[in-house]
Amino acid sequence: MKVLDVEWKRMEARDMGDGFQGHITLDKLAIPDTVKVTLLGETIIPASFDFYGHPNFTEEQQMLYTFKEEEFRRKNGDKYAVLEAEIVYEEGIFDVPRSRFDTISGIENSLKNLFDLNEMLENRKLFCKANPKEPLREFVIFGCFWLDQFGQVMTIQKSGEEALRIGGEVESYDEFCQNNTKGFFITTGGYSVPAENAVCPCCGKHFTVDDIRNNPCVYKNGKYYHDSCWRDYRRHKEVYQFTHQLMSLVYQDADYQFELLPNGYWQGDSNSHIPWFLFHTIDGDIIMGWRKRVISIEWQKNYKPFDMKELFDAEDVTKWEEDGKRGIHAWGEDKAREYLQKVLEIVNPDYSVW
Ligand SMILES: [Zn+2]
Repeated sequence: MKVLDVEWKRMEARDMGDGFQGHITLDKLAIPDTVKVTLLGETIIPASFDFYGHPNFTEEQQMLYTFKEEEFRRKNGDKYAVLEAEIVYEEGIFDVPRSRFDTISGIENSLKNLFDLNEMLENRKLFCKANPKEPLREFVIFGCFWLDQFGQVMTIQKSGEEALRIGGEVESYDEFCQNNTKGFFITTGGYSVPAENAVCPCCGKHFTVDDIRNNPCVYKNGKYYHDSCWRDYRRHKEVYQFTHQLMSLVYQDADYQFELLPNGYWQGDSNSHIPWFLFHTIDGDIIMGWRKRVISIEWQKNYKPFDMKELFDAEDVTKWEEDGKRGIHAWGEDKAREYLQKVLEIVNPDYSVW
């Protein structure tokens, strides 16, 4: 008779990019076929299992769990009471030889294709779950990813001007640190490698190990993109939004031209490819771009003059006037359009975009 593990755990919600999923993280590896989940005497059948054998649930199952927990709290008169499900399961065995995922040669062998690379990274995680007290050895692959002792992958970014000194496709993290005493930092949040069948939604190409080696991939909204594809897509989208969806609703297309400017707010980080705009309109120049959640609008010195106070006194937002420039922060596109139009009605009262 097999010994079964019993745990009491709460179902957590996971943001999947295009919706939510329920998930229960167990203390050990589990054999999926043996996992039984019971909540208040009722069985919940998992929708799927992750590679640890831990159960995933549908968005509806997750919501039902939340509703029942709320009901449970009301009944108990305790709004912080936690409702736990009972999970009974048989522990999974992990018996992949350590040499395949925790040595330089084992890791090198996995770099042939994405399937093997993902399997190697998965094995590192499985090992940690099966042997929580035994840390993994640490490596750097392609000079840009740190495989840490917990089975995570972190991105290494160079911080100085000089190139990093890289000792091969795979090297120990200690060696990498000795060769690069400064000049790099580790980005937070971790990196996940695209699955072997994943396709970049922009260019339609399957990802390969070379993509990861030369052109790291980004994970956004539940999808993987080539870094360069994502930046290009994002830049085009910004241009479309600031021209077609904003400026062209204020000025006729023939009455303005524009140049792209470097991002005036995010510098040297993952949003720095999103441009700002210098619009040359028939009434003068305007600089615009996103700053976090507001659009910065600055009418330049050569823009026809208007009275900021009179127009925007009632607006409780950041405003400025300096060297003949006038600026305001707009909370979103609709507000930006409203401000641009307000000014236009003063400086060019007979103008119509239609
Ligand atoms: Zn692509």
